[in-house]
Amino acid sequence: MSILPIKPRFEPDKLKIYRYLNTRMSLTEKEIKYYHNLEKGYEGEVMFDRLMENLMEERHIINDLLLEENNTTFQSDSIIFSQDTIDLFEVKNYEGNFKYESGKFYTLSGNDIKNPLHQLERNETLLRQFLQSIGCYLPIEPHLIFMNPNFTLYQAPNNKPIIYPTQLGQFMEKFNMKRSKLTNKHIKFTDQLLSAHLIENPYKVLPSYRYEMLKKGMTCAKCHSFSISLEGKWIDCSICEYKELVEAAVMRCVREISLLFPDIKITANVVQDWCRVIECKRRLSRILSKNFAVKGYGKWTYYE
Ligand SMILES: [Zn+2]
Repeated sequence: MSILPIKPRFEPDKLKIYRYLNTRMSLTEKEIKYYHNLEKGYEGEVMFDRLMENLMEERHIINDLLLEENNTTFQSDSIIFSQDTIDLFEVKNYEGNFKYESGKFYTLSGNDIKNPLHQLERNETLLRQFLQSIGCYLPIEPHLIFMNPNFTLYQAPNNKPIIYPTQLGQFMEKFNMKRSKLTNKHIKFTDQLLSAHLIENPYKVLPSYRYEMLKKGMTCAKCHSFSISLEGKWIDCSICEYKELVEAAVMRCVREISLLFPDIKITANVVQDWCRVIECKRRLSRILSKNFAVKGYGKWTYYE
């Protein structure tokens, strides 16, 4: 029997926004790099979550928790409460060859990168302070997890809490050997953690964009290309041959517009301008009124 996270992980809004922008405008090289790192990082976290589905016993899994302590916000990829310990995870999806030298991480070409061990240490300190402030003194065990099977660290330190891809199986086995029963006290602590969770503002540090700048048109749900066509009830992609129901595709467009432009009023005109492919406005209005509350009247109709 596996454990479901009490706070599951969702695709971050910021990643979605970057993905939409990458499809609809040209990003700078730096922005593209940043976007790819977001995609890759999330991919690694999803792989980590799959692995954690194999956990047994009573434990609480809390993902992507954003807390503030000492006027500093910090995000933990994963926190797992067990009976006698709290395991804190920093998950990285680095791919390729890296080198560890005098306390620093380098790519083999010699660029130094942010030391993920420092990030983990900092998170551990802040989490400890937070937990102590709510009266929780369970020991914290920090782990830096490298998920990507194509990751190698030369001159790897052996006295650091690092789990390499080849050690993941063994790590899980050992983890599951620790018996765990949770009490009301554990539940109280995890509740307090969850209620202190902050909502990240995804609109910070974004490329600047305006409605007029973005390429319009419906994209394929799978490969994000604009090469789609309307065939009856279906939207067909000519690149990857993915088929999606028109209604689902329209709803996807609405979510896209709302995330990119949170202040925009969703009207049939706006959605039509965004999707391009659906010429019949009555058809659009039907889909919108089926899925949203209709506000206003006549040409002032909008959807919430
Ligand atoms: Zn496609």
